[in-house]
Amino acid sequence: MLCCAGVPPSLLLVALLSACSLLLVAGRNQDQEFHGAARSRILLQDPHKHEVHCSRERSRAAWEAIDEYLMPFVEKEKYELPSKCRLRPDNDMFREQEQHKIHFDINEWRCGFCKKAFRAEKFLDQHFENRHKNLLDNSEGRCLADLCGALHCDMMMEFKKPKSKCNAAAALRNRHLCESLADSCFPINQGLAASRLHEFFLRQFCDAHTCNRGTKHFPKGGRKQTNRFYLALCVLTLILLPLFYLIVFLHQREMKKGAQDLRRFSKIGQKKKPS
Ligand SMILES: [Zn+2]
Repeated sequence: MLCCAGVPPSLLLVALLSACSLLLVAGRNQDQEFHGAARSRILLQDPHKHEVHCSRERSRAAWEAIDEYLMPFVEKEKYELPSKCRLRPDNDMFREQEQHKIHFDINEWRCGFCKKAFRAEKFLDQHFENRHKNLLDNSEGRCLADLCGALHCDMMMEFKKPKSKCNAAAALRNRHLCESLADSCFPINQGLAASRLHEFFLRQFCDAHTCNRGTKHFPKGGRKQTNRFYLALCVLTLILLPLFYLIVFLHQREMKKGAQDLRRFSKIGQKKKPS
C-alpha cells in the first residue's frame, strides 16, 4: 500500500470503479464490432440475400419514359404521386445508384459513392453490381422493368421498328397493366388534378397498346421536345435579332440621307427663286 500512501480510500474506489466501467464498455464495443462484422460477413457470404432479378437497363428505359413523358405534366399539375404508385422515383430500386453516377465526359464516368472512375457506363453499372449491391432495396414492387410492357421501354431503347406481327393478346395485357397504373397513381376520386392526369396517362401511355396501325406513342409530347422547341426558338431569335437591327439601321440611314437630300434640293430651289 506504499503507492497509495496519502490518497483517500474513497478516491481509490472511484478510480477503480471508473477503470472497471471503461474496461466493460470497451469489451462491449469489441463485442458489438465482432458481432457487426460477423453479421456483415453473413450478409456478404449469403449469395441469395441480395440477388437481384431485375434488369437495370430496362428499368432505366422505364424511368426515362416516366421522366420524359409523364413527370413534366405531373409537375405542372403540382400533383404528388401516392406512395402505392409504382411510378414514384423512390419505388425504383436502382434510382439511388443511378443518381450517384457522375458523368464527366464521354469516356469518364465516376461512382458517386467511392469516386472510382470508369471508361464507360456499363463498367460503372458492373461496379455498382459488385461493390454497392448492399444499397439496393429489392423488396417487392420496386422493379421498374416489370412495368416495361406498359411504358413502351422497347421504343425508349430505340428498337425503332416494331415487330411486323402485332400480338393482340400481349397488347391487351400491356393495356391492362397500363390502366392499372393509371388507377393506382391517379385515382379519379382524389381531386381534379388526379382525374386530369388519369385521363392524360391513358392517352399518353395506354392508347398505343393496340394492334391498330397509326396510333401514336406519347401523343402529348415530352420534356425533351419542349426543350428542343425552346432551343430552336432561342437560336432563331439570336439569328433574327441582329438582322432586325441591321434592317432598322439601314432604313434609318436611308431616311436620314433622303431628308438631307430634300433639304439640299429645297435650299437650291430657294436660292434660284429670287433671280
Ligand atoms: Zn463505388
